[in-house]
Amino acid sequence: MTKIGRVSLVGAGPGDPDLLTRKAFQRLQEADWILYDRLVSDEIQSLFPAHCRTESVGKCAGKPSIKQVDICKRLIQLASSGHTVCRLKGGDPFVFGRGGEELLALQAEGIEVDVVPGITAALGCAASTQIPLTHRGLSQGFTSITAHGARALDHDWHALVALQHTLVFYMGIESAILVQRELLNAGMASTMPVAIVERGTQKNQRVINGCLQDLSALIVRHDVESPALLVIGEVTALPTELALPFEQHFSASAGERIKTPSYQSGIHHLL
Ligand code: SAH
Repeated sequence: MTKIGRVSLVGAGPGDPDLLTRKAFQRLQEADWILYDRLVSDEIQSLFPAHCRTESVGKCAGKPSIKQVDICKRLIQLASSGHTVCRLKGGDPFVFGRGGEELLALQAEGIEVDVVPGITAALGCAASTQIPLTHRGLSQGFTSITAHGARALDHDWHALVALQHTLVFYMGIESAILVQRELLNAGMASTMPVAIVERGTQKNQRVINGCLQDLSALIVRHDVESPALLVIGEVTALPTELALPFEQHFSASAGERIKTPSYQSGIHHLL
């Protein structure tokens, strides 16, 4: 009888290897195959055990890349041939990670699957930029939303604004102009503070602060690259207001500033 393998759908967190859970680390050690996403940071890839075979199945927005259906087929094929597979995804597998589709495809084939949560980008970026997603008197909740294909998704923008939540847009770099326009049309103040967090929790993290009316211009001006999150809400101005004594890089335009890795090391000095 052929040995039946199994698959673990594992969240790798936002990039800092210290944010991998113990369980995620354990699944990496147990695996003989690792299939990983483009979002899995180089530092985490360097933790892959030498005995494992690895395969990048990264999908890249706007570029030809491996299809989801082919990733599912590959997982089924490996597990059916008896392998112990770690399917490693950026952040959490069930937050904009298509983990549900992989889970269903594997279950349909009777393959044993377990799911290991990871720290999703919203939480990782909030912590590493010291932006509290909720804060007494400012924000009673936060809403995580995809901005990928925002036109087709047809969000209820008025409802989003009415919530008065901190809004966290994943995959928002390409469609920031649309997000900005729709939120303004739905009545959000043009002066609403925003933060763009690029490569959150990683050594080369950047944070760009500004206002909603400048959101898409900031992305162009600072050449923001994926992965990046758009965080919109009063709370994004809090680290600025607290005026921590870290090195700051002010740009020419009023009210806008960028924090680069020196910001992080500044924070470390405080601890
Ligand atoms: N499953 C992932 C999200 C995948 S969608 C999670 O739970 O975090 C991909 C989007 O996540 C990116 O376009 C970006 O918006 C966001 N993202 C992932 N890692 C990030 C990081 N380190 N910094 C900023 N944004 C990140």
